[in-house]
Amino acid sequence: MEQGGHHILIIEDEQPIRRFLKASLSNEGYRISEAVAGEEGLRIAARQPPDLVILDLGLPDLDGQNVLKRLREWYTAPIIILSARDQETQKIAALDNGADDYVTKPFGVGELLARMRTAIRHAHRSGPEAMTVTVGDLQVDLAARLVHRKDEEVHLTPLEYKLLATMMKHAGKVLTHRFLLREVWGPLDSQENHYLRVFVASLRRKLEDDPARPKYILTEQGVGYRFASDY
Ligand code: CA
Repeated sequence: MEQGGHHILIIEDEQPIRRFLKASLSNEGYRISEAVAGEEGLRIAARQPPDLVILDLGLPDLDGQNVLKRLREWYTAPIIILSARDQETQKIAALDNGADDYVTKPFGVGELLARMRTAIRHAHRSGPEAMTVTVGDLQVDLAARLVHRKDEEVHLTPLEYKLLATMMKHAGKVLTHRFLLREVWGPLDSQENHYLRVFVASLRRKLEDDPARPKYILTEQGVGYRFASDY
């Protein structure tokens, strides 16, 4: 499908990955710029600001987190991180430093494209927030604070509702434990990860067909949660 010719900057030192990304994304109608190192990436971004940046964290010249921080000093469009497996701390740091999302190597191009679509959609959303959010069988009316599942009303406690509404407003995007705790409980409780586990478990019991194999509230191991947006 044509993606409106969005301009994507890929900052990645590994040539096979760069080549694979360029081929896959060009095929989807994206325009591609490439950089093999951090400084070069920053220069290209400044010269011709892209609609989205794909940034590898392991670069030869600069630490990827450093590139991310320097980009975020002025660049507001989405940044998606490429990270190695088992780098939960790095992923969380990248999200805290302003990345919109990440994919873990080795990744499938379908997964990356879904992340890119979500990030671009969120970035381009303007005007007032939608008053209802629908994902799969679930519908949340944000004005009336009502939740329906398969057209039946679901009764949630105020905190369960707040957590669900926060996740659904960001459907498709990874949300860190810290972000969710801050949004739902406020800054004082931001270390209390077990609150989240308890409330997520109870939401899954009320919303999922099989709470042990959730299709709405997905766990991002070691990082946080992601509310599904694609079916
Ligand atoms: Ca690398």
